[in-house]
Amino acid sequence: MRENVPHLLVLDVDNTLFDWLPYYSESNTALLATLAELIDVPYPLLLEEFKQLLAHYDRKNSFILQGLPSLATKAARVDRETVYRRCSEVFLQRATAALTPYPGTVVTLATAKRYRPHVKIVALTDSPASEAVWKIEHLGLAAYFDGIYGLDNPPLVPSPAVLEEIITACKKYRGTIKRMPSKCEKPSTKGLEMIMHDFGINASEKDRVIYVGDNLKKDIALGKKAGVLTCWSEFGVPADNYSLSKTFSLSPACKIRQNVPNRDDLRLSPDVTLSKFSDILNHLF
Ligand SMILES: [Mg+2]
Repeated sequence: MRENVPHLLVLDVDNTLFDWLPYYSESNTALLATLAELIDVPYPLLLEEFKQLLAHYDRKNSFILQGLPSLATKAARVDRETVYRRCSEVFLQRATAALTPYPGTVVTLATAKRYRPHVKIVALTDSPASEAVWKIEHLGLAAYFDGIYGLDNPPLVPSPAVLEEIITACKKYRGTIKRMPSKCEKPSTKGLEMIMHDFGINASEKDRVIYVGDNLKKDIALGKKAGVLTCWSEFGVPADNYSLSKTFSLSPACKIRQNVPNRDDLRLSPDVTLSKFSDILNHLF
């Protein structure tokens, strides 16, 4: 039993609010398949170029289509406007179709807001902050979040038209958007400390903070280091082998090493294991 009532609920986004694997794998597979057909280049070649782009992403060029060498070499022979439009449409359609919150997420957050209005709810993610706002908006959850904290990177999207959609979501969002430097990337505790500072929680009130995330290597490690209550969203740990292998095939090795827990990470023990999103309510009341 907690001695102090919680004042701050910090939630990871991908695989805590929704199943990120189909979001990532379906949208990017459809993008590359559409492009392969439009410019008559084999899909496997585009896939390798896509992975190279991700591995060497320089945080300046945020557009996938502009970064693919095969499209650049075909530029003189294709209608670039049509390619950009078709690829962006198919990407957006697949990405937004996959943005469905886990069962019980909406009612849990609505209940928390209604009966525990003093508890601030904040998202903490390694995604670019603007992309996180767009995802949370599409999930239908934006109204429940007092703040969304992500990294200060431009989202990696097919084209400027898709970025425009994301910018529109950010303009609509009424909470705090914080774009954090890369040193805040999980498992650094800096992002969580920034949130605690911004929402008026001092170091002696760590027992008033609940942190929820699916990744033992990143989320649980940082929550433990920060000394807050760590809740492992086990329900979001990838179990769907089809989407998992598809996601691995679209990811460069460096990203896999960076994000997938190793043997030592798997030994970390969260304070609480959540088998469904609504289990969070047990720790708010
Ligand atoms: Mg996650």
